[in-house]
Amino acid sequence: MNLILLGPPGAGKGTQAKRLEEKYGIAQISTGDMLRAEVKSGSQIGREAKAIMESGGLVPDAIITAMLALRVAKPDAARGFILDGFPRTVPQAEALDVMLRDKGLALDHVVELKVDSAALVERIAGRFTCASCGTGYHDRFKPTAVPGVCDVCGSTEFIRRADDKAETVAARLDAYRAQTEPLLPYYQAQGKLRAVDGMAAMDEVSRQLEAVLDKA
Ligand code: AMP
Repeated sequence: MNLILLGPPGAGKGTQAKRLEEKYGIAQISTGDMLRAEVKSGSQIGREAKAIMESGGLVPDAIITAMLALRVAKPDAARGFILDGFPRTVPQAEALDVMLRDKGLALDHVVELKVDSAALVERIAGRFTCASCGTGYHDRFKPTAVPGVCDVCGSTEFIRRADDKAETVAARLDAYRAQTEPLLPYYQAQGKLRAVDGMAAMDEVSRQLEAVLDKA
């Protein structure tokens, strides 16, 4: 099964993609995570992407699509994948269509996580992850059980994304509206677009997603 999760930053794509990865045994592919790894390693791509990411803009399509093509070819994606944060522009979606066609693959579902934009800044600005095991938390919606200690692994080190600052979030939401929202009619025209309520509780969002995926 190959699917895309669409929705603005803070819609819960990463959280839901991780759950789907576990449930269906397909690979979560997050271009944002891949780029953050490139920035951390100091690679050529990372050096080009860093300032763009910190400003809340989008990394050029050519860089992203080349990076994605390599990732989709890895063995863990052979059983299927969940694209989280890609495509973000119509040219990326067109490149993906070509890439999949060349490999004899198809997209099974494109699911939009529908959210109320007023809630996004608060959702994004409060999130943090365990530096050791990667478990995601939120200051208000999902704090650690013991303050400062990861529930899962006990680590006391946490990371907040540099671009989750309130100033940058507005630019990221603008980029979503201007460049990514046109993907909704793009996939609607292909008859692939489905939607779930991204404002529901996490387990309910998962339930709705699974209902969409199991229907086909
Ligand atoms: P994310 O973790 O998906 O929110 O991505 C973090 C940042 O990485 C974005 O704000 C962009 O600067 C960049 N990025 C991630 N995926 C893409 C993409 N498909 N196209 C362009 N830029 C991307």
